[in-house]
Amino acid sequence: MSLAGSRPIIAIPGPSPVPDRVLRAMHRVSPDIYGDHLAAVNAGLIDGLRWLAGTAGTVVPYIGNGHAGWEAASANLLSPGDAVLVLVSGRFGEGWAELLRMQGMAVEVMDFGATAPDPARVAERLAADTARAIRAVCVCQIDTASSVQADIAGLRAAMGDHPALFVVDAIASLGCAPMRMDDWGVDVLIAASQKGLMCPPGCSFLWLSDRAASMPATVLTTPWWDMRPRMNAQALWQFWGGTPPVQHIFGLTEAIAIMREEGLEAVWARHRALAEMVAAAFGCWSAGGDMALNVADPAARAASVTAARLAGADGLRGWLAEKAGLTLGIGLGAADPANALRVAHMGDAGAVQMLGVLGAMQAGMAARGIAHGPGALDAAAGVVARRA
Ligand SMILES: *Cc1c(COP(=O)(O)O)cnc(C)c1O
Repeated sequence: MSLAGSRPIIAIPGPSPVPDRVLRAMHRVSPDIYGDHLAAVNAGLIDGLRWLAGTAGTVVPYIGNGHAGWEAASANLLSPGDAVLVLVSGRFGEGWAELLRMQGMAVEVMDFGATAPDPARVAERLAADTARAIRAVCVCQIDTASSVQADIAGLRAAMGDHPALFVVDAIASLGCAPMRMDDWGVDVLIAASQKGLMCPPGCSFLWLSDRAASMPATVLTTPWWDMRPRMNAQALWQFWGGTPPVQHIFGLTEAIAIMREEGLEAVWARHRALAEMVAAAFGCWSAGGDMALNVADPAARAASVTAARLAGADGLRGWLAEKAGLTLGIGLGAADPANALRVAHMGDAGAVQMLGVLGAMQAGMAARGIAHGPGALDAAAGVVARRA
């Protein structure tokens, strides 16, 4: 039999759960896309996106997923042959490097495995670039495959006065982990609608520093991808490169309203506490079982997702989906994917939900004979008691 109930829980790192308020805001007939109302809502959304990223810079939208955001950034700012340094801490960083290579960039990867990119090594590499040939430094703030979180402020400081653009993939971190784009000196920020922004997939955004926004088009810049008409748009269709994604504009607006009500610092602190709950549970389980968090250094653990090695993960995930109505993430990019999983705590996630996720995981381990140490749920509850 199954004890799933009628409302399954999705704890995969994107698309993340969409709050009922966002679903309701999106559930409407299409308005006049040439009318003032939608234009005003869109203007409010852009303000909200600036607030979320901590920038007074320019926001450029695309209808597309995170990959579209990647491609939009490089298609506007880089040319084939340009030297690009990609700091990799997992599968998403690798995928980004592949995309840049396919666009013809001279990609150099610095691979940090399941650790955060080391600012000292980055500083050393850039100092050796006396010709200033490196045009961009790219890094995922959170690599969703490994669940490594990079120190964005530290990496920017490590770049010193090197003129390379600092390009940050915040697809799995915006609205989950701190982002102070202007204070930290990020030139290009990339994010998409379906992770920390709590909406369905379908929109991605670039945030640009004044320096990035004023760069000339490159040979890769084709009309639809060109960010300049979007930056100078008089009408919604110019801003979005065609018909605007009406329901997403309403949904994203509502999602940002929810975050404004909670407060951005509180949103970040909640994600950090949820990550600590998962880490505390794994700490107890692993004392009596064959499992371990992917990221050893607590300071490098992602706020929005936790990857782990766990013997029997595939069977456990199947059991949870069928018996408990819980879907966990697959072990993406893991050395042994059948024995790896990811627990997302991204966007619309809270203490009760995470206690439920961890409780169901423990039930599944018991049911499937996966050995695990005691005390995990007490430890997770203890985090809630201390942090709430
Ligand atoms: C999800 C994700 C992507 C890719 O986004 P898609 O919407 O799947 O194209 C890129 N980078 C990171 C860090 C992600 O988490």
